[in-house]
Amino acid sequence: MTDQIPKPDPEVTPENKPYWDAAKNHELLLKKCVDCGHYRSPIYITANICPNCGSRKPADWVKASGRGKVYTWVVMHRVFHPGFEPEYPLVIAELEEGPRMLANMRGIPNSEIKAGMPVKVIFEKLNENITLPQFAPADK
Ligand SMILES: [Zn+2]
Repeated sequence: MTDQIPKPDPEVTPENKPYWDAAKNHELLLKKCVDCGHYRSPIYITANICPNCGSRKPADWVKASGRGKVYTWVVMHRVFHPGFEPEYPLVIAELEEGPRMLANMRGIPNSEIKAGMPVKVIFEKLNENITLPQFAPADK
């Protein structure tokens, strides 16, 4: 018997499947509006409506640079279950293309995370179906 609480995988839907397929190949995809060029994250906005111009045309999938800067972050000093301790800190980074993205920060002590610090996307394979985009300091 294990004391770990099984954590659910992200839900793969027909709408976000290209995002997860690309992550398996260590590529970060964003959606780009075909009318105004606005970039948006495909996994936090499920409606196929551009939040910038209201276009309902299907957005293009485009490869993102994978670079950004820390916008904000949270460190849980008392996690509700030890199994979730590796999930912190959570960082919201503003990507070069504009959207903000939530992921875990890896490879740096919590005390060294600073607003505005450059980050890059790295990829962690959870299982055969899911590879998670995560953040790491851009200079490491
Ligand atoms: Zn648009």
